[in-house]
Amino acid sequence: MNSFLEPKRTIAELKELRRLTGDDNGAQRVAFTEKWQTARAWLRGKLEGLPLEIHTDAAGNLWSTLRGESDRALIIGGHMDSVPNGGWLDGCLNVMAGVEILRRLNGQYQGRPPVTIRLVDWADEEGARFGKSLFGSSACSGTLDMDEARALEDRDGIALPDALKNVGIAFEEVKQSGRELATAAAYIELHIEQGPVLLDLDLPLGAVLGTFGVERHAITFHGQAAHSGSTPMNRRKDAFLAAARMSPEIYRIAERSGGGVCTIGSCITKPGIVTSVVEECRITLDQRHLDAAALARMLREAQDASHRLASEGNVRVDWERLWHIEPRPFHPALIARCEEAIKETARVAHRLPSGPLHDAAEVCGAGVPTVMMFVQSLHGISHNKIEDTKEEQLELGVQAFDRLADKVMAWIMNGS
Ligand SMILES: [Zn+2]
Repeated sequence: MNSFLEPKRTIAELKELRRLTGDDNGAQRVAFTEKWQTARAWLRGKLEGLPLEIHTDAAGNLWSTLRGESDRALIIGGHMDSVPNGGWLDGCLNVMAGVEILRRLNGQYQGRPPVTIRLVDWADEEGARFGKSLFGSSACSGTLDMDEARALEDRDGIALPDALKNVGIAFEEVKQSGRELATAAAYIELHIEQGPVLLDLDLPLGAVLGTFGVERHAITFHGQAAHSGSTPMNRRKDAFLAAARMSPEIYRIAERSGGGVCTIGSCITKPGIVTSVVEECRITLDQRHLDAAALARMLREAQDASHRLASEGNVRVDWERLWHIEPRPFHPALIARCEEAIKETARVAHRLPSGPLHDAAEVCGAGVPTVMMFVQSLHGISHNKIEDTKEEQLELGVQAFDRLADKVMAWIMNGS
């Protein structure tokens, strides 16, 4: 390990941040609130003394740049914001590991590394207040839907543009953030896994293959309301029966998809009373896969099943797309380097996809070669105050991530 790198310091700083911006219920750094601003001011304090150029871009993302021999930049990303009652590692582990890497490179290269290194703290990754995640990174990548975002309101009826104005961000200008990527040569992000895969394998670290594509639909079955006492079973047009039969169906679809997942997360019946056969049943289906063709096949199979079940049950079905995002496979050369860095640090590496979306998906979508590294999550749990990772694994994570930074710098210098 490089003598300038002190992973224990990262852990001490994360604990300091927890004391400063958390309470008995967990982390309270919801984006654009006072606590979030406190966290950012604290972060700036940690960066003092390093020869960095620091500025906030048009979307509220905080960039800290260590100029190198080459203008081509390695970007290290994370987010200081949390969900309400969040965990102590989600997002800020990435940022603080990045701070430690800046210190190491500054020490090793006397303030001028071979390539430019930029740490970005993305604004409002979680979307906790306005229900729209990846705000800062999607403004930067250009995919933010301005009309949709303009209309967002929080629980108190405050519109997103007004909330942004309060923290000095002009909503209509946020996409100017995109110019930050002009010199980007690669993007790396360290994150806790937030799931149980590495835990179950008893491995500390994993190389992330990409983020899942998502197909999200509402499926509505239309039958006929009828009296629950007077209608014989063979005369019913039961919308709930057809919808319910979708449940075992999606487990079979996921199983044969090779790594995909399907979830029916909501079910609403009408008229929704105890004495009536269900006239209308609306379920939501969320399907995810790393491979676009496999995701399309999963969707087709679910559609076919719904039509078959509808005709068998003598009901009608229609589909409405709620949301969709393409899979974002990360860069193969960077995945290989991530795996190497993990093997050199912790001997064994595992490759896995990411179910949750991350800012890295936006940067990847903008065409910047990207990879993420995961650290094991104890309990496989996140967005909860019990979120945790063993300290020795956090240290391994900082070390391996630092090695990855070196490997990616070398890759950039070799003309990537
Ligand atoms: Zn996160």
